[in-house]
This record gives sequence, structure tokens and C-alpha cells, in this order.
Amino acid sequence: MPEKIKAVFLDRDGVLNQEMGDYVCRMEDFHVLDNFDALKELQDRGYMLLVATNQGGLAKGWYDEAELSKMHAHLKQVYHDKGVEITDFFYCPHHPNFTGDCDCRKPKPGLLLQGIEKYNIDPSKSYFIGDRERDVEAGTAAGVKGILINSDQPISTILDLID
Ligand SMILES: [Mg+2]
Ligand SMILES: [Zn+2]
Repeated sequence: MPEKIKAVFLDRDGVLNQEMGDYVCRMEDFHVLDNFDALKELQDRGYMLLVATNQGGLAKGWYDEAELSKMHAHLKQVYHDKGVEITDFFYCPHHPNFTGDCDCRKPKPGLLLQGIEKYNIDPSKSYFIGDRERDVEAGTAAGVKGILINSDQPISTILDLID
């Protein structure tokens, strides 16, 4: 059996790009935060980097999958240019008021479970960094350690909480 890998899951808004108070609908409002050195450090420690984000704005029709994929391609490219590989993006396109309940909208653990399954990740060696209590809840429910930060708090400040 190949050894399972370890991962750091990252919430998106308020962690990788600026929290704007609501769903980011347009590329112009998508501002990447400078966590380049911190994520490089986690990558060097052997962690795969994955994003897990609620995108209920899709269910509301505020933006579409094409605009969202532009944002994610941009985010991936900016980090790639700094030597950091964000391996994959998992997002929940649902919203309870528009599409009903789902298993993936945080605080549900579905997005994390998708990543764990897809990449054969060991949850007990993995983390989820988010700026909302629901991120920590989702992490706990998926068996990974949740780390709560303030919105836009530099990830460099919590690196000592990660093995
Ligand atoms: Mg957030
Ligand atoms: Zn969902």
C-alpha cells in the first residue's frame, strides 16, 4: 500500500484572497493575499494544498461556473508563479434557500471528504485553515484538525500549529 499523504485544506475567501463581506462575484473583486512564503513552507513540509470553499453565489445566480473557474485559475497561477502548487479546488455550488440541503456546504464535511477520497489523504495528519467557525466544524467532522484564523490573517502566524 502506498503511504497516505497529508494535506492542508484551505478555505478561500479570507484565507487565500481578501474577504469582501459576501461572495466574490467578479474577477475585479478577487484580491489574492500574500501567503506565498507560508504556503511554500507547508508544501516543503510535505503537505498537499487543497481549497474547500462554499460558493452559494452559484445557486443564487450571482456568477457562473465560468467566472468562478477564472478566479480559481488566477489564484492557482499567482501561487504557481511563487513556487506554490495548489493541487485542487473543491467547492459547494449549492445554497439551502435555492437548491435545498446538500452534503458539501460547510459546516458539512463533504468537500473535505471529496479531497480525502480523491487523493488518498490521511485525515489524522491533515488540517483545515479557515476564518469561520463552520470551517473548523467541517474539518472536525471530516477528521482533520481545524485551525481558525481571523479573516485575512497571515497564515505565517499559525505555522507553529501545524506539524
Ligand atoms: Mg472564508
Ligand atoms: Zn453543496
